[in-house]
Amino acid sequence: MSRVYNFSAGPAVLPEEVLKEAAEEMLDYRGCGMSVMEMSHRSKAFETIIQTAEQDLRDLMNIPNNYRVLFLQGGASQQFAMIPMNLMKNRKAAYIITGQWAKKAFSEAKIYGEAVDVASSADKTFSYIPDCSNLDIPEDADYVYICENNTIYGTKFHTLPNTKGKNLVADVSSCFLSEPTDVTKYGLIYGGVQKNIGPAGMVIVIIREDLITEDTLSGTPTMLKYKTHADHNSLYNTPPAYGIYICGKVFQWLKKRGGLSAMKEYNEKKAKILYDFLDQSKLFQGTVVKQDRSLMNVPFVTGNEELDAKFVKEAKTCGFENLKGHRTVGGMRASIYNAMPIEGVEKLVEFMEKFEKENI
Ligand SMILES: *Cc1c(COP(=O)(O)O)cnc(C)c1O
Repeated sequence: MSRVYNFSAGPAVLPEEVLKEAAEEMLDYRGCGMSVMEMSHRSKAFETIIQTAEQDLRDLMNIPNNYRVLFLQGGASQQFAMIPMNLMKNRKAAYIITGQWAKKAFSEAKIYGEAVDVASSADKTFSYIPDCSNLDIPEDADYVYICENNTIYGTKFHTLPNTKGKNLVADVSSCFLSEPTDVTKYGLIYGGVQKNIGPAGMVIVIIREDLITEDTLSGTPTMLKYKTHADHNSLYNTPPAYGIYICGKVFQWLKKRGGLSAMKEYNEKKAKILYDFLDQSKLFQGTVVKQDRSLMNVPFVTGNEELDAKFVKEAKTCGFENLKGHRTVGGMRASIYNAMPIEGVEKLVEFMEKFEKENI
């Protein structure tokens, strides 16, 4: 068996320990004589799995009691519709456009009401986070929406916007559990888990209780009401059971590693190695303004498309996978999520140094 250093933006690298444990339990989950995949979601064993997962997530993020945790299907993209369907009481919401995922959420919200673009960094291909300290937020906006970490462009909100008292809704897909979060600052936090936590197809929603109501837009399907899932503790229908099981293992792995403060320290150390190299390199350069850089997704370019392609190809033969940038931006992108070991980043930088010497 040989594993590569996988720099994919998602689905992405998972902790090896977690994968090994899941492999060991594949045929017989702790004496049940069956895999978690084959198990009733109403069984005692699964009840323990989902309850433990929720509790561990609550411990890690310090989630207050007046917030619910929902394990849902449909990935992050399903939330682009579910959020307005459930929260747009006045049919108005403010969106901050910092990249493609925010743009998609914004377009989807327009189907349901008036989505107002209150700030954007489209003018400089989303290479920065706009100043959000004093935005013109409509009086009757139901919420302010952000994509907190922009997976494609490599920017992150290091300061949350001033929402002027409106509920903040955040897509944290690509920075989920990468550092401590003050949950009380948000009305709703959600993320697809395939970036930093588990297998694709599942989304975790953390929502303040008062935002879960019967009062959804007319025509909202039962499956797309937060209330349906909250009332049934994420077991209204068959949940993404195996995904929840793997996420639960990742939560335990994070706890063992010292929780989110320790993770932040580790992630900062990893990102610094790469950014420090980029800042002095004569061949490679980062594409994001320094103060808005993401700890998770690091885009960079040589300025020459052919050289970029050569780099990606040679990197692959040396065991560094998925370094090609998003198809809409080109260049390279190294996603260095929680489970990417520091050695992976060190070795990548060594490889980049060598490539630079050979190609400059
Ligand atoms: C990947 C990603 C999505 C889309 O996730 P799906 O689960 O494929 O719907 C949405 N937002 C962000 C920030 C992402 O990185």
